[in-house]
Amino acid sequence: MSGTAQIGVTGLAVMGRNLARNFARNGFTVALHNRTASKTRALADEFGDEGTFIAAESAEEFVAALERPRRLIIMVKAGDPTDAVIEEFAPLLEEGDVIIDGGNAHFADTRRREKDLRERGIHFVGVGISGGEEGALHGPSIMPGGSPESYASLGPLLERIAGKAKDGTPCSTHIGPDGAGHFVKMVHNGIEYADMQLIAEAYHLLRSVAGYSPAKIAETFRTWNTGRLDSYLIEITAEVLAHTDEATGKPFVDVVVDQAEQKGTGRWTVQIALDLGVPVSGIAEAVFARSLSGHAALREASASLPGPVAAPLSEAEAERFAGQVEQALYASKIVSYTQGFHQIQAGSEEYGWNVDLGAVASIWREGCIIRAAFLDRIREAYDTRADLPSLLSDKQFAEEIGAAQEDWRAVVAAAVHQGVPTPGFAASLSYYDALRAERLPAALTQGQRDFFGAHTYRRTDREGSFHTLWGGDR
Ligand code: NAP
Repeated sequence: MSGTAQIGVTGLAVMGRNLARNFARNGFTVALHNRTASKTRALADEFGDEGTFIAAESAEEFVAALERPRRLIIMVKAGDPTDAVIEEFAPLLEEGDVIIDGGNAHFADTRRREKDLRERGIHFVGVGISGGEEGALHGPSIMPGGSPESYASLGPLLERIAGKAKDGTPCSTHIGPDGAGHFVKMVHNGIEYADMQLIAEAYHLLRSVAGYSPAKIAETFRTWNTGRLDSYLIEITAEVLAHTDEATGKPFVDVVVDQAEQKGTGRWTVQIALDLGVPVSGIAEAVFARSLSGHAALREASASLPGPVAAPLSEAEAERFAGQVEQALYASKIVSYTQGFHQIQAGSEEYGWNVDLGAVASIWREGCIIRAAFLDRIREAYDTRADLPSLLSDKQFAEEIGAAQEDWRAVVAAAVHQGVPTPGFAASLSYYDALRAERLPAALTQGQRDFFGAHTYRRTDREGSFHTLWGGDR
């Protein structure tokens, strides 16, 4: 028997609730289910006026409420709970039905689950969803993997509830088979870590070197947000910096413990980048910066280590420096995206996903945390040349980063002189310089490897592998 709901959502915490409401507000009949059934009824009661909900008490009722082929979205805690929920529903489904996992799953888990369910005749779609709870309600950026057939059935619904770019394009597209969607979402989060770290470094420099107050930095960021750095993260950073703590009357940023937490997708990005051999040094520094901040005992024990005494800048010097920081931030941001897109390209090649990088940039333009005017530029770069080996090979990006490089160096040099940690800016600049170097010292590394391990080396003047008999008869 077939029901009338076009979509079902099981797992009704913040994300599931808001996604279900978004579907209902867009005219779809939504079946609801949650392990704790009281939450299901409460949601249907509270938001019943927004659309049509069918509250199901049991898994059987939930499945029976769905039209065929059934589309059911799992929005539960990632990991074992997702497997438990899949095993609860899969036996109740029929061939051609679609299970969608909208949680933050590791793409390797998604590949495993997709394979298993495919063998049982069920489509499994791992979907990356970005935009937090607000995005889920008002239009997230959606990154679905899975088979093309499943996207044919599910895609139109996702495109309806997704955020829309300024040109009206929905921020949902079929990313590629099996784990492609969750992989791309993972890299999105890695880029998000890098974006946040770079903005934090810009703040730190403006505060410590330019001597700006949080309010003045908020003003500076607001100005930047009207230019090429126009983005959600710059916008909210200005708001956070302008916020005053009610209890103390101090800037909010000064009463928050300076230890950043993480849930794991940034770490996954770096772990997978290591496996794929992709240099995502800017993203890695952002992940390490968060873990370093959390080592309270280490920092306390090191607090008395000597460093330079900051030399105050005049107002005009500070203003000039702020302009240089904008250049450094923009150039470093280009590097983070270059590295992130390289990782997606490498993942796509490794797993045969055939990911369209321009389409990825396109669906990140709205709805997600890293949404930014800048993504239009990335989309254009891939539209101009779909097989672009790197964003830095794009003529416009190359020109822009070239124009920023002197100021970028001045900022990193000032940070070193003044003792302000800028791992993101510095790693990005090193990556840029490594790419443009005519010769890298890797030749020496090869010599060392051949010396101690007979690992052989290739020569610049002849084909083949070579080994030198170092020190005679070693
Ligand atoms: P959550 O706190 O991650 O999970 C809570 C939900 O999972 C509840 O509905 C809970 O049911 C259910 N659940 C937990 N263990 C279960 C089990 N063993 N069997 C059945 N149900 C179980 O909720 P969330 O923050 O809304 O996130 C949902 C998913 O979206 C997660 O995978 C998360 O990583 C992902 N995500 C979150 C965000 C965000 O901004 N929060 C953004 C993107 C993606 P009960 O009510 O019965 O406890």
